[in-house]
Amino acid sequence: MEQQKPLSTVTMAFTVVAFLIFVVARAHVTGIELPLWPRLMCALALSLLVAAIPRAPSTFVFGLIGAAYVVVLQIGVMINVTGVEQPLYWMLPAGMVVPICAAPLWLTPRHFVLGTIAFYLAGIPFVFAVPFTHDDWVLCAMWVAIGIPTATTFHFGFYWFRLNHFLLEEKLTAQAATDPLTQLLNRRAFLEQAEQMLARPRIGGEIVSAIFLDVDRFKSLNDQYGHARGDDALMQVTQVIKDAIPPEAIAGRLGGEEFAVLVPAAGPHYVTELADSLRIRIAGILRPDGFLTASFGVAHRRDHESAISLLDRADEALLRAKHAGRNRVFVERACSVARVRATAIDEDIDTNPHGANDLEAGGNTVRQWGAFELSTHFQPLYSLSHQKQVGFEVLLRGHDHEGKPVEPGVLFAPQSNPDVTELDSLTHHLHFDNARRHVPRDAWLFVNVAPSTFIQAGYEQTLSNMAVAAGLNPGSIVLEILESDGVSVEELALAAWRYRGCGFLIAVDDFGAGHSNLDRLLRIQPDFVKLDGELIRAKSRASDQPLLSTIVALLHRADMLVVVEGIETTEELVLAVESNVDFAQGFLLGRPSASIPVPDAVMRRIDHAFDVIAEGRSARASRFDAQLSPYLAMVKAAAAALSNGAAIGDAIAPMTALALCKRCFVLDHTGRIVGQEFVGHAAPNGDFRLGPLLATQSARWDHRPYYWKAVANMGTAVFCQPYLSLTSGRASVGVTMALLRDGKVMVVGSELDWTSPHLAWPAVE
Ligand code: GH3
Ligand code: MG
Ligand code: MG
Repeated sequence: MEQQKPLSTVTMAFTVVAFLIFVVARAHVTGIELPLWPRLMCALALSLLVAAIPRAPSTFVFGLIGAAYVVVLQIGVMINVTGVEQPLYWMLPAGMVVPICAAPLWLTPRHFVLGTIAFYLAGIPFVFAVPFTHDDWVLCAMWVAIGIPTATTFHFGFYWFRLNHFLLEEKLTAQAATDPLTQLLNRRAFLEQAEQMLARPRIGGEIVSAIFLDVDRFKSLNDQYGHARGDDALMQVTQVIKDAIPPEAIAGRLGGEEFAVLVPAAGPHYVTELADSLRIRIAGILRPDGFLTASFGVAHRRDHESAISLLDRADEALLRAKHAGRNRVFVERACSVARVRATAIDEDIDTNPHGANDLEAGGNTVRQWGAFELSTHFQPLYSLSHQKQVGFEVLLRGHDHEGKPVEPGVLFAPQSNPDVTELDSLTHHLHFDNARRHVPRDAWLFVNVAPSTFIQAGYEQTLSNMAVAAGLNPGSIVLEILESDGVSVEELALAAWRYRGCGFLIAVDDFGAGHSNLDRLLRIQPDFVKLDGELIRAKSRASDQPLLSTIVALLHRADMLVVVEGIETTEELVLAVESNVDFAQGFLLGRPSASIPVPDAVMRRIDHAFDVIAEGRSARASRFDAQLSPYLAMVKAAAAALSNGAAIGDAIAPMTALALCKRCFVLDHTGRIVGQEFVGHAAPNGDFRLGPLLATQSARWDHRPYYWKAVANMGTAVFCQPYLSLTSGRASVGVTMALLRDGKVMVVGSELDWTSPHLAWPAVE
């Protein structure tokens, strides 16, 4: 109907013009004098009916307008021919041409039949009003005989043509909007519909949320089992999505194995749960080598945000889910605060610059912010060595009027920019005020600052004044710089220098996630680095050893203290202690709460972790010794044989048969191989990754610990910490012994493959 409306409107408007010409023509013909107004009234009624056509809400109303139109037209025509000598000839155009011309415009055959009947019925009074001659009857019969079949032919011909045309058009439109494999919306159509959804007015602060998902390791499924399997998996994922999402949500396939869902007005909790239920259902889909999984990113729309930008943020969360190990749901960072800008409130620090109400709740200052109530929560940081609370991170909490918690992302997200600025400064005020009452003087206060706020000119002074006014010393405040959203490292480094000038300490938050990198750290030179919770779970590829101790060692070498966040289990605490982490924070040690938690139970936990490590260290040391001892004995035997003048090959041949032995060698006083290298039992075969490194004749190894340790302990069999072997690309341990032969230093040794999970690793030095 919508496509038909413009055509019908234009054509019917032309008939109004034709009617007016008909009226003018009548004025030039003799006959009885006619008042003009009834015909003008008819023309006006016709015009109004034409204007109503585009607004017809249904085909029924369209039909009614059409019927009224032909009746009014017929009446107007009849009035116009009253008093002329041969009225039937005058009526000729109306009687025959009007039904024929109107025929294609009727939407359905029923409308056509009813409209045509209405037209002829409206003419009946006229037939009875004038005296009819025989010729007139013949003329009427001819009109009907020619008019009706011609109009019918016109109507049906055009009707079928139009129907087929529209059906084809609909089909093509649908095809252009649908992904051929899954029948979901394709990228273009999804974005179009998403924009339409976002443009709809929302009641009561409803928020649209986006879920972005990407199937994990999909390429391997395709590569190993064929594209048909891959396609099948995509269909199953599609079915899961279709079954799970609410009817008002829209879903699309945005790329190969990427899907997106947009859910209007469902609330952040619901959307996260929906994403997790999708994750669980997808994890139930079988693939030949296990189960299919997918990673998810969730984001909630901010004020006036476009669909693309919303999806981008969900995609960013998805990326973090991938980095964190896949098969998980990550919600956009709460530090969407990043868009917050600072206000210049230096002048008026003591008074409340925002006109917000201060309320007191359990000794805590609470502030009203629109419909939400804001308060400060504290999460403790422990020094693992000191076994005590040394700092507190202050976190913003919001509650709605029913007392239900509101996520920080939601608090900040829907506000327009000027409001956010206000909220940001309000937050710092609130935190300082509460920290003064609760946080011990000798503890650090960790405060989050968005990069865009951090680099604001003069904000360091604002913050410093704010702290002093609240009775805090800037020297005990650690500013945590969140993920930079577009703020350059240079700007951050410069700003950090200014804040230091005011006495503040600097921390870089979430190192190891998102856009953080080493270069950023080295330029900002923070006092503290907070490691992303996921980083503590990072492991080496072949030997599955945690990398945390090495990362901590690197940061310590760069003079930065290390905080690990997100400690949730005893194993993670033990790993943090073992890896020389300085400070730890996480649910295991204390959840964020409105008051400072009593640390006793946590002290016991940390103490326990130290005991576990002490015990583990000695157990591991003895296991390591036991596992290594046959090799040390063999090296000793080989060295003895060499000292006694045995040939190199004979001396080291027994070593090559041992289980972990990859290669055996004798090195001269410059660390070069004497003679040739001997391949051992555990030598890897078929790994051509390191092909150019395999030939070692020219190599010099005297810089390696296994060489210089042996030379330093001449006559004693020694070992070194596991290292990455340049010839196998795998974790290895060297066992060696130095001896003198013919007055020259010689080191005999073997490289052992140290990747098996059954092997003990010595404690970090
Ligand atoms: P990750 O866990 O990091 O997402 O790894 P991945 O292998 O899933 O991701 P990657 O983007 O490397 O690979 C996606 C693959 O999806 C590449 C392409 O062969 C495959 N693919 C894209 N479209 C289709 C499709 O329509 N059918 C099938 N069977 N495969 C597709
Ligand atoms: Mg992909
Ligand atoms: Mg993928």
